[in-house]
Amino acid sequence: MKSVQLVVVGSVGLDTIETPLARCEEILGGSVSYACAAASFFVPTGMVGVVGSDFPPQHMALYQKFGVDLKGLKQVEGKTFRWSGVYEADMNNRRTLATELNVFGSFMPELPDDYRDAPFLFLANISPELQLHVLQQVKAARFVAADTMDLWINIARAPLMEVIAAVDLLTLNESEARLLAGEHNLVKAAKKIMGWGPEYLIVKKGEHGAMLFSADGVFVVPAHPLEAVNDPTGAGDTFAGGFMGALAAEGKIEPAAIRKAMAYGSVVASFGVEAFSLERLEHLTRGEIEHRFLAFKKMISLNPSDL
Ligand code: AMP
Repeated sequence: MKSVQLVVVGSVGLDTIETPLARCEEILGGSVSYACAAASFFVPTGMVGVVGSDFPPQHMALYQKFGVDLKGLKQVEGKTFRWSGVYEADMNNRRTLATELNVFGSFMPELPDDYRDAPFLFLANISPELQLHVLQQVKAARFVAADTMDLWINIARAPLMEVIAAVDLLTLNESEARLLAGEHNLVKAAKKIMGWGPEYLIVKKGEHGAMLFSADGVFVVPAHPLEAVNDPTGAGDTFAGGFMGALAAEGKIEPAAIRKAMAYGSVVASFGVEAFSLERLEHLTRGEIEHRFLAFKKMISLNPSDL
């Protein structure tokens, strides 16, 4: 097997999700599941996380089907992390009903030796203390990105600020960016957050796409328009996994490569939300990604004759 180019650390969860159309119990979720599945279409990806003794073996088999390297995934005595949430009619608003940390409560991620030299690292949503613990083990990552959520902004701000100071890129959704910066205007919020360390900030805006902030200004990618969104859970993680995978595959970290990787992130995320859990990604091919990427490119460019 080829050496791992991208390491992703995050949560593995069993999710119970209710949308206006369906309710699914204890399905495979967690930030690292979505991010690794998405990244696996582009580069050899290693997963760092923890599951309990109740973790269904078919989920492990699914990770293997994606080709994800599982040396960094620990299985320990106890219950797997669980999360449940409910979506409102427009699917843009979600309420968390319950979060059970379970085996995450006492987990300390240890990177396998060969992961420590991987050039790309994505710290998916997980407590910032654990993100920091991982950061301390990497030797020479060329590009490190991190994600977080309102919970950690509210209860673990000090370690989160340390993570933010150490990464090249931070991803947040719109409300998290406002909460973190204490600033309603997104341009001002982004400027403030970049002042704390990261060269890039991606603000995810759900069905409205994502914005990249950097010293070059702002770059926006839309979301691929879909007639049927069945479950938006994990869209941000799928976006980030596709983004980091595409960037690692390109092997470059300059602004043009970052913009192209954003388009790939948006395309892969659009497949992910078509079904619950990893159901759509499981049957996705690289050919389908390229096909939608071409259509996406066409959608976002102006013809010379338009100008
Ligand atoms: P997203 O829709 O991108 O916010 O990601 C949803 C995923 O995040 C679900 O599959 C959950 O299992 C996971 N999740 C929810 N709450 C947390 C948390 N506090 N820490 C880590 N992962 C979480």
